[in-house]
Amino acid sequence: MHVTLRPPSRRALGAWLAGAVLAATAGFVGAAEPAPYGGPLFDAHLHYNDDAQQPHPLPDVLGRMQRSGVRAIIANSRPNDGTKSLAAATDATRAAGVTVVPFIRLYRDRADYGSWFRDPSIARMVETELAAGTAAGPYRGLGEFHLYDSANADGPIARELMQLAQARGLVVLAHCDDVAVEKLFAHAPNAKLIWAHTGIGGVPAERVRELLRRHPTLMGELSYRPGLVVDGRLAPEWRALFVEFPQRFLVGSDTWVNARWQYYEGLMAEARRWLGELPPEVAQRIAWGNGAALFGLRE
Ligand SMILES: [Zn+2]
Repeated sequence: MHVTLRPPSRRALGAWLAGAVLAATAGFVGAAEPAPYGGPLFDAHLHYNDDAQQPHPLPDVLGRMQRSGVRAIIANSRPNDGTKSLAAATDATRAAGVTVVPFIRLYRDRADYGSWFRDPSIARMVETELAAGTAAGPYRGLGEFHLYDSANADGPIARELMQLAQARGLVVLAHCDDVAVEKLFAHAPNAKLIWAHTGIGGVPAERVRELLRRHPTLMGELSYRPGLVVDGRLAPEWRALFVEFPQRFLVGSDTWVNARWQYYEGLMAEARRWLGELPPEVAQRIAWGNGAALFGLRE
């Protein structure tokens, strides 16, 4: 079917112009909205799981990182093969400008999520992986692991691995609640612990502040954090926390399912948007500097 578009009447054109002027004015007022953060990103929560590798082969995921300005990643995967393949692709990662910081995942399969903290075979797997290392160098951390019930932070393997991390200078990436954070530090008070999502259950910012004050080696990773952005703007309570503790936070993508890979660039753009609301030196630290300092990377 052919549709003829009539030229707009003079009146319609006038209304359109008035609207355009209003929109331009609003745009001008909105110019108070800061520009997105434009520097490098350190993605401190990246999974390259077995089910991602067919729809998103290495050139695809590295391309997404490169287009997002991601210059380094904490890489971990279920099982650890995905991390090893990223670490072994040295030419491709170098070409993409991405430094791979490999972590040992505690999961061979989904069944391990609910039992790793009391399963001695997980601790033996960690020892084997640590001894082998990766093509990109030694493993630098353990995780991400999950503690859906904080009581499981008292499990014997949770204790053993926290103590191993503390003794070996490995960084731990833990998805848990605030009670479990305290329990993990009780095993190893000086371990370096990245709290995945900084409380995915929405623990109040004031409680996060209390934990940061009490545990100097605690850092918070911010993917999925409830209440971080409200009505498209960084929440004032989180802004205050970032300005008070600029060295204690990291951004992450958490590519735990393939949909997160599909929207990877969007996730990173969203992080850049709220980072742009922070003082530039604070944004730089959270976006890149803290991760780089934690693992001794140079930009
Ligand atoms: Zn995750």
